[in-house]
Amino acid sequence: PTKEPAATIPTAPAPAPHFILVPLVALGHTIPMVDLARLLTERGARASVITTPLNAARLRGVADHAKRANLPLEIVALPFLTDVPGLPPGCENIDQATDLRHFPPMFAALQKLAGPLEAHLRALSPRPACIVSDWCNPWTAPVARRLGIPRLFFHGPSCFYSLCDLNASAHGLRERVGDVNGQKEEEEERFVVPGMPVRVEVTRATIPGFFSYPGFEALREAAVDAMRTADGAVVNTFVGLERQFVSCYEATLGKPVWTLGPLCLASRDAEAAASRGDRLDAQQQGAVAAWLDERDPDSVVYVSFGSLARKLPKQLYEVGHGLEDSGTPFLWVVKESEAAAPEVQEWLAALEARTAGRGLVVRGWAPQLAILSHRAVGGFVTHCGWNSILESVAHGVPVVTWPHFSDQFLNDRLIVDVLRVGVPVGATAPVMMFDDEGAAVTRGDVARAVAALMDGGEEAVERRRRARAYGEEARRAMERGGSSYESLTQMIESFRQSGASMQQAKKHEQYVQDVNWLEI
Ligand code: UDP
Repeated sequence: PTKEPAATIPTAPAPAPHFILVPLVALGHTIPMVDLARLLTERGARASVITTPLNAARLRGVADHAKRANLPLEIVALPFLTDVPGLPPGCENIDQATDLRHFPPMFAALQKLAGPLEAHLRALSPRPACIVSDWCNPWTAPVARRLGIPRLFFHGPSCFYSLCDLNASAHGLRERVGDVNGQKEEEEERFVVPGMPVRVEVTRATIPGFFSYPGFEALREAAVDAMRTADGAVVNTFVGLERQFVSCYEATLGKPVWTLGPLCLASRDAEAAASRGDRLDAQQQGAVAAWLDERDPDSVVYVSFGSLARKLPKQLYEVGHGLEDSGTPFLWVVKESEAAAPEVQEWLAALEARTAGRGLVVRGWAPQLAILSHRAVGGFVTHCGWNSILESVAHGVPVVTWPHFSDQFLNDRLIVDVLRVGVPVGATAPVMMFDDEGAAVTRGDVARAVAALMDGGEEAVERRRRARAYGEEARRAMERGGSSYESLTQMIESFRQSGASMQQAKKHEQYVQDVNWLEI
């Protein structure tokens, strides 16, 4: 695959290419794409982020910031079907789902955005140069085909994960593992992922593959197909972090892979950083900053499990006791949904009293980027969501890895075995998004891993040194002349002149059949 500019050299300045970004309606997917929109507009392109009305309202801070900064970035709200059977009223984001059963109707309602998106794009003049669509939004593929607009897929996880996933499919690993199914003692059996440049072992529980639950087969198939037919991939990573996996992934995929990250470094000023995600309470943000300002450099461990994973009380208590027993200063984010029950609130208040002066519990949404960039923060207990990992890497902070589900177990392997900037807590099997009672992580595991990360011993110092070096490399990647900076330049230039004519698009239309992969 080539990333050379696709078009002939223009004689007159071409108009700013317009990128249409279609994130999945989940914060872990929207946040990096909004960062990408910012970057594109700062670098001379136009960007529109396509979403639904409630999600657009949550992105108001982004739109306001762009307006003040005079960036051509718009948030477009397409009408969202609210009367889908099985979807709770007002549920327009994955983080509002409270049951796995809400997902199929949510994806079915999202699929219905195809018509409004097509109408919106047809009305634009000049035509958009490129659609960058989350790989979980395969319904954008027929729209792009019908309009003749090039389409890249945005893949959330690392190239390491994506390469494992492609290789597992190509070599029938999932089928092989399925064949030996059934015996409890085989749960721990290890399988080598074929075709990887390093040895990667998985168990039946941690084998790569999204949407592996029953009922999601059609969505997975459509998503894989939409990746196969895309013109390339955009990945939030940087070459210096996973060089060999980027090149192998690109070769295996057989199309250009644009590595543009860490995208979090696009949110350079405090206002941009604060508008990432939502629900940020200015007062709480000030209190967090003031608390951190009083701590010694590298003394605090930050603890957060991303935007989706929800801990039930039993596991929540293990985290709290583990932090208390570790003797380390901690800043712990507890979601509102986790702290809703009165007995949990009571328990948290007692923990705060016992650890006063050493621990801070933040309820709700925390300013994660500001926290990770604070000099007092010297470690991060993370669920290994790829954004959290990259945000930690970008700020030179080593981690305790506690993977929960999907790509997180392989992100854990990358961090611990390949990059050697993490200490595993010891989680060996996935937990369900809404039920983690089966998890076997104990307060002892938490205390041991946090102490190992923060104890200042030789290994901890070496780990921190490596993390810092990656942090510096991440910054260089995003600066002029750096790999991600230059990759973005190439991407913008590639699409400045591309985009087929309307005639081509029309010709194409007669061949295209809409895929209808989810029945409401
Ligand atoms: N995040 C945040 N505050 C919180 C929780 C999460 O700012 O209290 C952000 C975090 O910085 C990251 C994203 O939400 O950008 C979570 O993405 P990740 O891939 O780590 O995990 P997911 O939420 O997708 O499981």
